[in-house]
Amino acid sequence: MVLQRVGIIGGGQLAGMMASAAASLDLKIAIQTPNSTDTAVALADHTIFAPIDDLAATAQLAQECDWITFENEFVDLVALGKIPGAVFRPPLSSLTPLLDKYDQRCFLQNLGLPVPQFCLGHDLAAADWQFPLVFKARRHGYDGQGTFIVRDAATLQALQQQFPESGLIEEFVPFTCELAVMAARSITGEITVYPVVETVQVKQVCQRVYTAVELSSTTQTQIAKIACTILENLGTVGIMGIEFFYTAAGDVLVNELAPRTHNSGHLSIEACATSQFAQHLRAVAGMSLGDPSLTCKAAVMVNLLGYEESTSDYLAQRHQISEIPGAYLHWYHKPAVRPGRKLGHVTVILDTADRARSIAVAEQIEAIWYPHS
Ligand code: ADP
Repeated sequence: MVLQRVGIIGGGQLAGMMASAAASLDLKIAIQTPNSTDTAVALADHTIFAPIDDLAATAQLAQECDWITFENEFVDLVALGKIPGAVFRPPLSSLTPLLDKYDQRCFLQNLGLPVPQFCLGHDLAAADWQFPLVFKARRHGYDGQGTFIVRDAATLQALQQQFPESGLIEEFVPFTCELAVMAARSITGEITVYPVVETVQVKQVCQRVYTAVELSSTTQTQIAKIACTILENLGTVGIMGIEFFYTAAGDVLVNELAPRTHNSGHLSIEACATSQFAQHLRAVAGMSLGDPSLTCKAAVMVNLLGYEESTSDYLAQRHQISEIPGAYLHWYHKPAVRPGRKLGHVTVILDTADRARSIAVAEQIEAIWYPHS
């Protein structure tokens, strides 16, 4: 039997971790990226070196592969839709409501799902809200890029000038914590939902993920139901990350959808029966879905973020972190370090669901990783 091939538009760490998961599924991976130093280049079976918006290159990828998937959703859906014979998973139609943050909010609200209050920038005067507010660029925001907590009118005005296409404005949600869930849908409509995790953002960038969440079973069920509603209504195929705010009153609000593998699911590589990367590939390749359940008492994931401009490989710190019992360190081999850049992550498998232990381990990793002030 001829091995089947999945094409990925993009070559960063998400594509890299997908490529690592492919062998056990008897799949080959081809990627499209312009950068020879991208994480996935060394892990994929084949690379088409071209910008991710190079349509001729994607047409070639489509000829070489059975299916095409995405590392991120910032793609030109209209242009991709014109490539003959390309089979996109998730289907392009399922991405249409998601690429613009305002459209995404409207999509969720129209499904009757709980979301923060929102409006377009030019409608704010009528909304009569108080500061703080949250301003979000409607397109291409990720890792906090394009998301701003706004405390006064002068800052708001400056942002509206910087993003003249009118940003999305939201109420500031004074959440007690942020939650996330990964969920996958197969071509037959089967849906699996991973365990709900807590995520901790610093300066709007994910820093930690814990499986040891203190949530009632009612809230867990509510989140799983929301996930199913979203995936079914999008008609997606593949995995999706869904982020939530959890309030002091016990309310859950959907913050954002990521129609792809996601940072909040990285710990599934070691902590779940099926990793998010394998699950996505299973869905893309038309297989039945794997078991998403935890195979350990708890797990914690810590992102190793750049904190300086450097070309260091941080070998000594990586070695020290790897020696923590139960630790699995993933290093993305990025050639240049910048503050805030995701350089790697570490997942630690724990034999207790005691939340204090998860927090202590995350602090231990960060004390090794970040220089002492
Ligand atoms: P991105 O697409 O850049 O990840 P998000 O919308 O997920 O942007 O926002 C990044 C982070 O900013 C969130 O995880 C949260 O910590 C904070 N944030 C975003 N929107 C709000 C809000 N309405 N209220 C309070 N904090 C918010």
